[in-house]
Amino acid sequence: MREIVRTDSLGARPADANGGPEERRWQEQANCLGVDPDLFFPERGASTKEAKAVCRGCEVRAECLEYALTHGEKFGIWGGLSERERRRVRRQRALERQRRALTA
Ligand code: SF4
Repeated sequence: MREIVRTDSLGARPADANGGPEERRWQEQANCLGVDPDLFFPERGASTKEAKAVCRGCEVRAECLEYALTHGEKFGIWGGLSERERRRVRRQRALERQRRALTA
C-alpha cells in the first residue's frame, strides 16, 4: 500500500485519528503497499488513472472504500474512487436511506 498510515483530510494519520488496528487490518493486503503515496493524492485536475489502475487489482478495495466513506476522507483516491466519486456514493446511500425510511 502507498502507506498504511496515509494522511487523511485533517492532516492526521488514520492510525492516530481514526479507528484502531483491527479496523485497519485490511491495509496489510493493500495493492498500493510500497507505491508512491503522491500517486493517490493528485493535484487538482491531474490524472487519477495510474492510482485507479493500482486499485483495480486490489483485493481489499471494498474495505478501503468503506473506510474512506466511514471516516469522511475528503482527499485522494480510496477504494479506486476519487473524492467526487465518493461524494456521489455518499449521496446515493443517503437517498436510499431516506427512501427506506419513508417506505418503512
Ligand atoms: S483500493 Fe487502492 S488505495 Fe485502497 S488499499 Fe487498494 S490499492 Fe490502496
